Amino acid sequence: MDTHTYPVTRTDAEWRARLTPEQYAVMRGHGTERPGSCALLCEKRAGTFSCVGCDQPLFESKLKFESGTGWPSFNDPVPGSVENTIDRSYGMVRTECHCARCGSHLGHVFEDGPPPTGLRYCINGVALKFDPAA
Ligand SMILES: [Zn+2]
Repeated sequence: MDTHTYPVTRTDAEWRARLTPEQYAVMRGHGTERPGSCALLCEKRAGTFSCVGCDQPLFESKLKFESGTGWPSFNDPVPGSVENTIDRSYGMVRTECHCARCGSHLGHVFEDGPPPTGLRYCINGVALKFDPAA
């Protein structure tokens, strides 16, 4: 991991206490959940998807779309909530995205999304929690 300091920092023990083993593997270990495994994939209600690691709002439901990949996909994050780094693991060059507040890994960004941005944020559902609009 890099030495970047985030507004929210936790020790490894604190992360393990806060997250489920699956969430920990994805968010702190840069893992990837099984496609289609997350209930949030089918979440169609209006609302906000927030970071499980620090509760920061990350994505709005109106920018969610059905990508057919098996992972929740979004057109664009809440401005300033997500940071990107270049991920060269597995012999591929991909854009990794993580929470700007706590640094937890969320997923990857691809440039084959729909307008207006053309971006597809491919996010592990376990890293998100959904709050329906009031
Ligand atoms: Zn976070």
